Amino acid sequence: VTSKLPQTGTTIFTVMSALAAETGAINLSQGFPDYDCPPELVDLVTRAMKDGFNQYAPMAGLMILREQISIKTEKLYGATYNPDTEITVTAGGTQAIFTAISAVIHPNDEVIIFEPAYDSYASAIKLMGGIVKSLELEPPDYRIPWDMVKRLITSKTRMIILNSPQNPTGSILSKTDIDELIAIVKGQDIFILSDEVYEHLVYDGQEHQSMARYPELRKRSFIAVSFGKLFHSTGWKIGYCLAPANLMQEFRKVHQFLVFSVNTPMQAAIAEYLKDENVYAGLPAFFQQKRDYFRNGLKNSRFKLLPCQGSYFQCVSYQDITDEKDADLAIRITREFGVASIPVSAFYSKATDHHILRFCFAKRQETLDKAVERLIKI
Ligand code: GLN
Repeated sequence: VTSKLPQTGTTIFTVMSALAAETGAINLSQGFPDYDCPPELVDLVTRAMKDGFNQYAPMAGLMILREQISIKTEKLYGATYNPDTEITVTAGGTQAIFTAISAVIHPNDEVIIFEPAYDSYASAIKLMGGIVKSLELEPPDYRIPWDMVKRLITSKTRMIILNSPQNPTGSILSKTDIDELIAIVKGQDIFILSDEVYEHLVYDGQEHQSMARYPELRKRSFIAVSFGKLFHSTGWKIGYCLAPANLMQEFRKVHQFLVFSVNTPMQAAIAEYLKDENVYAGLPAFFQQKRDYFRNGLKNSRFKLLPCQGSYFQCVSYQDITDEKDADLAIRITREFGVASIPVSAFYSKATDHHILRFCFAKRQETLDKAVERLIKI
């Protein structure tokens, strides 16, 4: 077989989670909580199944859920999305991302991404015959150098992919970034794919800069959101995409043949659960406490903490500890010290290794305690 993705292997999240399972290590690699989702939510799924929500949902998602998503988006970002034409329920954030890229990227279209970047972007672009134009961000702050973005733009630039809060770096877009972005795309035929799966995980009282807030950005944006991160239920694989009607029409052409529709009972349950906005209001404080707890524990280690303004990831530099490659060190720490992490080099298309590891802190306090106890021995 002639591979369509010759440079792509199995994703690092699968590889490191498997190694953690094999060695019995504490798994701070792949991003998911080690505590359960709210029991009320599980009861609502059972109820939905008993109430007969067991056949195909409409292709774009149950209307009761799309209505709640519309209300939530309006409350959070003051933006009105029409549930009928501008919201589609997806099988998680990754499907929304893949579908948006396949819907609008033609062969030889250029797509700008910022690395380190979530690994699905580049592969989805390449599968469509698009060209990845990656710009490397510099640690420790990983700010976007907008003057360099300007220089990367050509008549073939069709899309810019943004991710705030960013995986893996935990950096977030500021209002200044938004102003720069608006100046760059204004009057241009450029789409934005905004991966906002960590929209509620923004710390220190800062505001999430959703593309939905800004008409100039919103009119060209696909916004990918995840209920897995919102309700501690990553295994449900459910999320959604927001986009203006003309873009959503193209998105749905692909969506219907990729998954047709998403599982019905979970949609019904989430629709009911979302009626109470308190279910997401407490999330920033909940995760900030975990971030602070983990950072505080690591202060006694030889790792250097990088800033973390959002997401559920803490990056650390091990420059002062060893010269090993990050991929080798992540494996060695898993095997020898019993804590699995993600080497940040996995988020680059080039061989870039700043000697940084990513740890997921969306874990119970006792898990974080045990992990820290082991990491301070390194
Ligand atoms: N987004 C999650 C992470 O970065 C994992 C997603 C996945 O495993 N596909 O760890």
